[in-house]
Amino acid sequence: MSFRSLFRNNNETKLGSLLIRFSLAFLVTFALLLSGGYLFQNHFIKSSYIHVRDLALLTENLDMLEKSLVEQESGQRGFGITSEYSFLSYYDRGLADYRRLSKTLLNRSTLTPDFSGEINALVANTEAWQNQHSRSMMERSLLGKTIDRQTLQKGEAAFRALNAEFDGLLARITVKRDLERSRLLDRISMTLALTGAAALLTIGLYVFFIIKHIRRLIQPLTELDQAISAYEGSLDDSMKTSYTTSGELGRLVQAFHRMGEDLRRESGQLEDTYKMINALNQAGSVQDVYRETLLHMRNLVQCDKVSIVMQNADRRFFSKAVSQGERLSLKETLLDSEREELRAMIQGGQSLLYANWEIEHPASSLSERVYRDGMRSSVHLLLKKDNRVIGILNLYSSRPYFFTTLKKQRLEKLVPLIATAIDNALQTSRIQSLAMRDGLTGLWNRRHFDEAFARLTEEACVNEGIVSPLSLILLDVDRFKRFNDTRGHQEGDAVLRHIALLLQAYCRFGDLPVRFGGEEFAVLLPNTPLEEAAEVANRLRKLIEFDSPSSDYRVTASFGVAQLHEGQDRQELIRVADSALYRAKAAGRNRVCTEEEGLNDSA
Ligand code: GH3
Ligand code: MG
Ligand code: MG
Repeated sequence: MSFRSLFRNNNETKLGSLLIRFSLAFLVTFALLLSGGYLFQNHFIKSSYIHVRDLALLTENLDMLEKSLVEQESGQRGFGITSEYSFLSYYDRGLADYRRLSKTLLNRSTLTPDFSGEINALVANTEAWQNQHSRSMMERSLLGKTIDRQTLQKGEAAFRALNAEFDGLLARITVKRDLERSRLLDRISMTLALTGAAALLTIGLYVFFIIKHIRRLIQPLTELDQAISAYEGSLDDSMKTSYTTSGELGRLVQAFHRMGEDLRRESGQLEDTYKMINALNQAGSVQDVYRETLLHMRNLVQCDKVSIVMQNADRRFFSKAVSQGERLSLKETLLDSEREELRAMIQGGQSLLYANWEIEHPASSLSERVYRDGMRSSVHLLLKKDNRVIGILNLYSSRPYFFTTLKKQRLEKLVPLIATAIDNALQTSRIQSLAMRDGLTGLWNRRHFDEAFARLTEEACVNEGIVSPLSLILLDVDRFKRFNDTRGHQEGDAVLRHIALLLQAYCRFGDLPVRFGGEEFAVLLPNTPLEEAAEVANRLRKLIEFDSPSSDYRVTASFGVAQLHEGQDRQELIRVADSALYRAKAAGRNRVCTEEEGLNDSA
């Protein structure tokens, strides 16, 4: 803080600078008071003191002048009476003293103007006494003449009168001096009292100011202490205090409070991130990874929409999962019209940020739809595995500038985790699917059939009642042992692979063709009643019969069809279908038998 800034007028009074300003003002006032006191005493007390001193000197001079006269008179009288010369030296010393002192007295008389008139008169009187009495008597004595008694008495009387005049003047000067002295004392005590009172008043004002502002000084410190205690070792919300102070300490408290909030938010985000990592690690399937990614991203970023786009091995793009509002969909959608835009994004090799869609947004029909949906800001993060882009994580917000470069950078640190989780889940599902496939034909195997069958029967049966029909077709190649024997086992394998291809090509999406074992196959048909399943079986029968792998031979198969009924379990359904198949064999093969009417169709 510069010195000048202390005196600049800020909108808000800073407590620290206020204190410094006030202290400076206090010091200046105090200095003024002291110098004022000094000047006052210099002017009044000193002059008063000089006056008293001059009066004292005057008294002393008068005393000495009187004494010199006494000496003169004694010398003159002694010599007059005894004619001893030793008295002459008294007289001479008295006369010399008198001359010096009377001169000084006359010179100094201007310093005591109250008495200068009287002093002049007194000196004149002493001169007159000397001329009329002292000197004339001395001259007579020196000439050896006697001085008559009368003259002596006259001189004595005149001297006594002079003495009385001295005493009178000295008494008046003493009175005046006492008066001046008491006035001097009064002035000293008044100066001390005034200066002391002013100093006390200033100190009092200073103390008043300090006490008045000490609360303002201490309150923010208390709040700061509370704020620090609230964050010490815990980020518990209940510990939060309210902050009221303004000024620099108040701002410090507020800044501390904001720092605490940031810390709290950061810790919340860290917790959410850990939760996401945990959820991704525990995800059983790639669908689980998609779902957990969307849920946690929505939570972590607080944005309005999240979607995952993946590129398949055949380089086509699929939207795999979308979360918007309350809705979360894992429906797979082919993104053909956005192909070029997505490809360009991937080739750029960089995640993209569109801070405000009003200014710029990705150009595609999908983006136009998203724009119409109200999204105004987005970030598109590349999901990379071993430097290969496997997909894109898109985050959208309805608020422009919701996404910033900083946010994007933070998210970029998270996406490798998601990419790894997706890749791992895809690998696992690939391995799992390999274990569920039949080695010869590539169809699902019996194990997968059992699992899928269990799931489909559960979905078909709700509260013990069948809500959607589920049918099963079992088919067995006719006289296959003989075929193997005559055409060889390898040709037999080719026939089995061919039948598998036919099943896969013919079956609808959702149907489940399986190699059941040996030359036996099964097809599970969800949402299909018995009649429809029988029709499918018949078409398959015809396909097998008329579409052989070679024109050298024809292969036929027999079919048993059954539908799941209330109260039936899976084993029962298989058994019923199997018995229908048995009946088809028994009736001459290359035909379809249903659980109900036995023989259904034949070649
Ligand atoms: P049916 O009309 O009564 O079903 O007579 P079938 O000869 O087909 O019946 P069977 O159960 O007697 O014979 C099944 C034959 O299927 C025996 C076996 O050699 C053959 N087979 C089973 N699995 C395979 C396979 O993976 N490859 C080949 N080439 N043949 C197989
Ligand atoms: Mg068989
Ligand atoms: Mg057979």
